[in-house]
Amino acid sequence: MQYVLMDMAMRIRTSIAELGLDIWGVAAPYLSEDAQRHMRAWLAAGRHAGMRWMARSERLARWLAPANLMPRMGSMLVVALRHAPPPYGLEEALHARDRGQIAAYAQGRDYHEVLKRRLKALAQALAREGILGDARVYVDTAPVAETWFAGQAGIGWKGKHSLVISRRHGSWMLLGEIALDCELPPSRPATSHCGSCRRCMDACPTGAILAPGIVDARRCLSYWTIEHKGFVPRWIRMRLGNRVFGCDDCQLVCPWNRKADTVSRNNCMLAPRKELVLPPLTELLALDDAAFRTRFRGSPIRRTGRARFVRNAVLAAGNSEDSRLFEPIKHRLRDSSPLVRAHAAWALARLAAMLGSRWQTRAARALEEARHREADPRVCREIQACLEGRLDGAAPRTHSCGSAKREAA
Ligand code: SF4
Repeated sequence: MQYVLMDMAMRIRTSIAELGLDIWGVAAPYLSEDAQRHMRAWLAAGRHAGMRWMARSERLARWLAPANLMPRMGSMLVVALRHAPPPYGLEEALHARDRGQIAAYAQGRDYHEVLKRRLKALAQALAREGILGDARVYVDTAPVAETWFAGQAGIGWKGKHSLVISRRHGSWMLLGEIALDCELPPSRPATSHCGSCRRCMDACPTGAILAPGIVDARRCLSYWTIEHKGFVPRWIRMRLGNRVFGCDDCQLVCPWNRKADTVSRNNCMLAPRKELVLPPLTELLALDDAAFRTRFRGSPIRRTGRARFVRNAVLAAGNSEDSRLFEPIKHRLRDSSPLVRAHAAWALARLAAMLGSRWQTRAARALEEARHREADPRVCREIQACLEGRLDGAAPRTHSCGSAKREAA
């Protein structure tokens, strides 16, 4: 029996290497009581923000009891795909105020497609080898506790920022899973090596890491720039800086990423596209539907749609302190999307407030004109707030063991 299992592991290793997937491990299809409690408490405290689908009972039941993902589930095979780290440091990125920061994982091709294709090929190869009969492939598509499984499969531990870190590869990696109908010997679980370090917690611009491993999405800039579809709260807009899609601050400061194996840019499967590394905000503000689709073809950014992405870009331009962005923002007051027009109003007022009284007068004139022609009541309210100088808002007060309360204004 031992020989059979070792032979199976060897054949899996060969198939995985052939597909260029060098990080993998196997976990039993169960969640510990602790992991279940942690998830329930996180949801009960509302830390999933507007991602209400996460708390739906049927979805949650599958997340908590992964053995139900498929009939006769035997093991979870976890695979990680490395992507290139950003070619700049945190300070450099933040100082490039006339440029937009895009999360490193999204600077190349859409990993969902790349990884899913490889995992499906792997499942087919294992079926041909007679190792499994049935399999389900997941890449961010199903209620799978991927951080937990990555830990159990020995890929890496859950860092204080709640991402998976490998001692060898750092955290610049993306995860996928294959649920198998056969039992494979589980890997040795990873152990934490964060120690007393808390750099990610201190670096987070909004204090979203409430406690080790507990991130509040209501404070997370990645959530607001990628997941959130509507108006961005004003206190978040102020802290967005030049981030237009995601936020890498917690990973950029992590010492394990300094020690990580570097991924050769030429060999990396998810190599960054030059035009997505700190792109000029003027270019992003000028994107119409056709230009957006062309620029982000094959990129995960395309999923957010033009309006949400340009919403983020105008906010970044508003924070830029760069007078050259005044006119491009002003043009967006005539955008076809009310979401963009509303955020452009805020961005214009915010930029003018930083540039001084002459610019404030110009901004007030442009906002008055916009209010007169505006038909959407939500945009009108936003313009009115800007004309009254209400640019900031109260951050939610969050507690590591309780619910969120609004701070008194
Ligand atoms: Fe852990 Fe420090 Fe990295 Fe945060 S920055 S994940 S605390 S090692």
